[in-house]
Amino acid sequence: MKNEIISQAEKLCANTFGRIESISLYHTQRILEIFRKHEVGTRHFAPTTGYGYDDVGRDTLEKIFADIFHAEAAIVRPHIVSGTHALSLCLFGLLLPGDELLYASGAPYDTMQEVIGIRGDKPGSLKEMGICYRQVELKNDHLDCDAIIAAMSEKTKVVAIQRSRGYALRASLLPSDMAETIQQIHKRFPAAYVMVDNCYGEFVCKEEPTDFGADICVGSLIKNMGGGLAPTGGYLVGTQKAVQRIAARLTAPGIGLEEGSYAAGYQPFYQGLFLAPHVVAQAMKTAVFAAAVANLLQLQTIPAVNDERADIIQALVLNSPESMIAFCEGIQMASPIDSMAMPEPWDMPGYANQVIMAAGTFVSGASIELSADGPIREPYAVYLQGGLTYEHGKSAVISAFEQVMKRMR
Ligand SMILES: *Cc1c(COP(=O)(O)O)cnc(C)c1O
Repeated sequence: MKNEIISQAEKLCANTFGRIESISLYHTQRILEIFRKHEVGTRHFAPTTGYGYDDVGRDTLEKIFADIFHAEAAIVRPHIVSGTHALSLCLFGLLLPGDELLYASGAPYDTMQEVIGIRGDKPGSLKEMGICYRQVELKNDHLDCDAIIAAMSEKTKVVAIQRSRGYALRASLLPSDMAETIQQIHKRFPAAYVMVDNCYGEFVCKEEPTDFGADICVGSLIKNMGGGLAPTGGYLVGTQKAVQRIAARLTAPGIGLEEGSYAAGYQPFYQGLFLAPHVVAQAMKTAVFAAAVANLLQLQTIPAVNDERADIIQALVLNSPESMIAFCEGIQMASPIDSMAMPEPWDMPGYANQVIMAAGTFVSGASIELSADGPIREPYAVYLQGGLTYEHGKSAVISAFEQVMKRMR
């Protein structure tokens, strides 16, 4: 790619980069303060086995997560296998047969549809447990507060808000955007929990949804919060009341958060958390740079280069399956791991369309590391996310667009 395009693209990014760096500094300073408060030391890294009673590494990490989110309590566990598992755990913890789940941000992320039971008929879904489901669409990319309140009843026990776009071409939701709706829900239906699917959103803004009254925020540790170092895991953070119910589901009633050992030790979770604001900033800069290059190539992007962002995802509308595949090939070739692999569309479990994915990651499947993916369907948008270093992100984005341009010629 011509140096001229690259330097022109970076010029477009300059202001946004400055904003991203100041948010990263803000969170780094907060984390240092919170680590100081909890007197984090090497004793927190000691491995534990068996039941894991009094595991100080585990317990302190949970207190630190709670502090970061200005919340009362948290669950942060390597035994949570993914973001979907954390969200599923949350819903099964909070909902009882006869209750209703309301998604307030339109159709949920693909894998959540099977959890709810609105796609497929896998055993163990919420539907099978007698939990009803409704959804309210976004209105001009914002929560439709009036429609949400109108759709609720005394049966509505959980209102779910998905912060990130997932595989939808919409804007992601800023935590501040949720404030009014959360307030109204709590005023009219005090027994309802507001759950936010916070995947990909952490450390992107100064505030988190819990700062605006969300009862529980849920996410994956191989995305933003793990800083690229956490080897696995998920987290839930929120009110004591919500966390306690969910803890009974995580392990068993009566055991809750008091058990759970980890023989490998929690050091990468602490270190990953310490790095997370910086790594998120690297991913953000990669996304913004990709939008800038796309912009110069006359391609549509969501968000646009200088839009305020609520997650690390960059959607790039490439207009054809061939361009999607070419883009993913370019990302794959520029990956530190598995650069020799060739991404191909495949039927990924949990997803409705064929999906193409490019990723070459140190932590298997970690999407805080650079990856590009998307379902092969109109308008053939690829979703780019992650990047542990901007240097890598930039190089890979250049490689990806070079592949696309070669195919377009
Ligand atoms: C990643 C993600 C999830 C969970 O996905 P896993 O691959 O199971 O971690 C859920 N919702 C959103 C919006 C996501 O981005």
